Amino acid sequence: MHFNYRIVFIITALVFSLSISLTLVNYFTAMESTRDQLKQRALPLTVDNIYNKIQKNIIEPNLIASMMAHDTFLIDWLSHEEDDIQQITNYLEKIQNKYKMFTAFLVSDKSNNYYSAQGLLETFNENSTNSAWYFNFKKIAEPSEINIDYNTNMGSELIMFLNHKIYDDDYHMLGATGIGLKTSYINDMLKDFRLKHKFTVYFVDHNGNVVISEKGIKTVPGLIDTPELATQLSDIISKGSQVFDYRENSEAHLLSRKFIDELDLYLIVVAKVNDFTKTAKDTFYINILLSGLITLLISIIIVLYVRRIHLKLNSLASNDELTNLPNRRCFHNKLSELLCYKERNNNELSIIFIDIDDFKLINDTQGHDIGDKVLQSLAALLKINIRKNDFVARWGGEEFVILLVDSNLEQAKVIAEKLRLNIANNVNLSQLTNNDVTISSGVTSVTTGDDIDSILKRVDNALYKAKSLGKNVVVLD
Ligand code: GH3
Ligand code: MG
Ligand code: MG
Repeated sequence: MHFNYRIVFIITALVFSLSISLTLVNYFTAMESTRDQLKQRALPLTVDNIYNKIQKNIIEPNLIASMMAHDTFLIDWLSHEEDDIQQITNYLEKIQNKYKMFTAFLVSDKSNNYYSAQGLLETFNENSTNSAWYFNFKKIAEPSEINIDYNTNMGSELIMFLNHKIYDDDYHMLGATGIGLKTSYINDMLKDFRLKHKFTVYFVDHNGNVVISEKGIKTVPGLIDTPELATQLSDIISKGSQVFDYRENSEAHLLSRKFIDELDLYLIVVAKVNDFTKTAKDTFYINILLSGLITLLISIIIVLYVRRIHLKLNSLASNDELTNLPNRRCFHNKLSELLCYKERNNNELSIIFIDIDDFKLINDTQGHDIGDKVLQSLAALLKINIRKNDFVARWGGEEFVILLVDSNLEQAKVIAEKLRLNIANNVNLSQLTNNDVTISSGVTSVTTGDDIDSILKRVDNALYKAKSLGKNVVVLD
């Protein structure tokens, strides 16, 4: 049995290692493909998607601002004395309302006055923070810019200003005009991408500082504040398209970026890899569980199968298939065991050797099958006619042997006689063979100094004598 369990253990270990290896290969492939899909498709697509949305939101306001900068009314008004403020206020109000913009404005270069739909708001000077944008704008060569900025006159929200320079016919700058858009749509977009797609989206300037990020959630650290990004800063702050790997708080992240010319900002899209590998991980755990269960099931099936085979082999090795009695080999073992027992306890032990009379004739006249049935019925008869502690076995052919525990020769003779009569008078056997079935028996008792051979020799002699005496008789030795 020990050997069989070792085989079961080896098979179980092999099956388990095989299924675990397959599960692991599947897991790593799934993780790799999730990462690839993020890197090659999801992140670049999101970047393009956001870029397109921003472009779409900027194009129309930019056209309006450009139209204002070329409006002859504005050019004329600035060229004169800026005396009718109501006129310009009405103009800006109309633009603001018609196009549903957050604000429309005009700055005069001559007076440095800043007008909006509310009238003259302030007069710029180079030292005020509110007007810094204007003096910077003047310095650059481009005729327009997009500036994301706060304006203290307009609340605390970030505003995207689309600034256009106004020139006269001689290409002298008369001032700047344009409109301001609330950036809340950007915020909505960032929120949408976080909730729907688990991406963190934000915008950084050329130094890697965060300029726009979703309001109300944990502030996004600048690129310089994340050590692994700081080392790659010069690569990130460039105009190609590439996805960067980095770890933050020991979690793997992927970062994709795109330079948005119109905003002069970098759009950054970050994915935390773990957020996307949950399905692969769940599948992994389910697979491990299934592998364990299947291995357990296979082991149970193997154990049961091996045990069945083992019991069958055991039974084949010690039992006679036809009569279901113990065979000669088993009898030998039993006799040695009883001899040892007798040596220790000095109890009595007797043996009856039985041979069916003229069995060949039964076979010849009634057929082999009837012969088999006679053997089976006789075996059953012997079994029910001996005590529980006694032992009956098929010696072979039509010969049987009985070990009688705690019985002396006389007692054994009584039992042998009883068996002989029972069989000779058995109706079942006579009906089977159309004749009486009889047996001859040799009986002996074990004495000190006996071994298996000497006992068998004696009992065989007694049987031989019984046959010589005309059969259907019990002979003692
Ligand atoms: P005796 O009275 O001297 O014992 O004569 P016998 O015919 O009983 O003895 P013999 O040894 O000549 O023949 C025994 C026969 O038993 C021969 C053999 O074919 C038959 N035999 C042995 N084993 C089986 C068996 O399993 N089934 C059947 N049907 N016959 C068997
Ligand atoms: Mg015989
Ligand atoms: Mg015989």
